[in-house]
Amino acid sequence: MSYRKLNVNGVEYRYVIGKKLLKLQKMGDKKFELIPNEKIGNQLYNTEIFVVTPGVIRDFILGNQLPQEFHCNRHDVTTSHLAYNPFDSEIYGKHHLMMDCPECRHNLEMDI
Ligand SMILES: [Zn+2]
Repeated sequence: MSYRKLNVNGVEYRYVIGKKLLKLQKMGDKKFELIPNEKIGNQLYNTEIFVVTPGVIRDFILGNQLPQEFHCNRHDVTTSHLAYNPFDSEIYGKHHLMMDCPECRHNLEMDI
């Protein structure tokens, strides 16, 4: 696995997102941190997968509240969970993540 780089407010970090752990290192430091994905990531609907993105890592470094929460204005739902867009999965065979609003998911399933 190779590192990816991330710059947060002028400070360089590098990281590897593993299946269970995020490995995070500030450039120049000898030590690195191992952070369980489930502590910071967004749980994927119907799985034990916790999704960690560069945005999540950035929030972690900044000390922002995690997991990130998403709000669906149309259905007034707030959640930290993600789901695969059922329409994209079924029609295009692509896995696009969306916030897990049950109503939105249901509407997309009806479009298939
Ligand atoms: Zn919705």
